[in-house]
Amino acid sequence: MKKHNFSAGPCILPQEVMQEAAEAVLNFNNSGLSLIEISHRSSEFVAVMERARALALELLGLENQGYQTLFLQGGASTEFLRVAYNLLENKAAYLNTGTWSSKALKEAKILGEVVEVASSKDKGFNYIPKAYQIPKDADYFHCTSNNTIFGTQIKEFPSTDIPMVCDMSSDIFSRVLDFSKFDLIYAGAQKNMGPAGTTLVVVKEEILGKMSRTIPSMLDYQTQIAKDSMFNTPPVFAVFTSMLTLEWLKNKGGIAAIEEINDKKAQLLYSEIELNPLFDGFANKADRSNMNATFTLNKPELKDSFDTMWKEAGINGLNGHRSVGGYRASMYNALSLESVGTLVDIMSELERKA
Ligand SMILES: *Cc1c(COP(=O)(O)O)cnc(C)c1O
Repeated sequence: MKKHNFSAGPCILPQEVMQEAAEAVLNFNNSGLSLIEISHRSSEFVAVMERARALALELLGLENQGYQTLFLQGGASTEFLRVAYNLLENKAAYLNTGTWSSKALKEAKILGEVVEVASSKDKGFNYIPKAYQIPKDADYFHCTSNNTIFGTQIKEFPSTDIPMVCDMSSDIFSRVLDFSKFDLIYAGAQKNMGPAGTTLVVVKEEILGKMSRTIPSMLDYQTQIAKDSMFNTPPVFAVFTSMLTLEWLKNKGGIAAIEEINDKKAQLLYSEIELNPLFDGFANKADRSNMNATFTLNKPELKDSFDTMWKEAGINGLNGHRSVGGYRASMYNALSLESVGTLVDIMSELERKA
């Protein structure tokens, strides 16, 4: 039986995407060759890369606005550094809302001055700071749209005249935003777009090329753009499977259509967390994430029965991050409303039995 996969990442992907990806590994486009043994310079794979890049821009509504799309390697963690190499000349402004923001900030500090405009560390990162000033003389402002570990999400982004950079690893393609507010968006594929191994970068080309430093080739966005994401051998399987997932999303009606379902899933789970006296939500209500719901069971003596119950119901990946504890239900695009219904049924059954 296929599990209800609530894992935080690598994430659940649509079943039909898995099927097609598996077939391509055995026999790509009826070529008698595997996707992972053909040349990345072959016209077949170049078409995959181009399609993936075009789909990403189309879904984000960013066509013909000066943006370039890249599929790179090294995960979102490498973008922490790559962003600073390409944009940090003197000073950068960072909003610190969790583990990933802190890591991004730490990497930027290697290359210049970093101003932490606000941090929610004082309350264990359970909220999103709201009233803060972004220094006008900073080279860019960096934020993390969704905090995968703590389960908080920025609902309203600040307005600023300096370039805005956003780590959208765990909520890209999940909700409608005015993506043109951002000058650089990056996202590790394995949260909501595909398998691990590639990172999507969407960058407004006009913000690049202004650094006085020499940027190592692999870290230089302009090199990657000039080489169409193929400066070195690209992760062909990850790019192909991301392309299939983006195609799946487009066929479903795009971001607006999936957002409707994502809202329903989040409402269903959060209303159970609120109404069920056995559970407490971790994140501040106004800031809680529609992708990763974090919660605790307030009767430790029931932990064993709850864990047994959800595992027996075919649920996977519900344990909270090791730094937070409790539970975390990740409800990425490919997770069905039915799967959330299964979890909610178990939670109310636990209440009846207790
Ligand atoms: C998982 C995650 C990362 C790290 O991604 P890697 O691809 O493993 O480097 C960065 N930022 C956010 C928001 C994440 O959820």
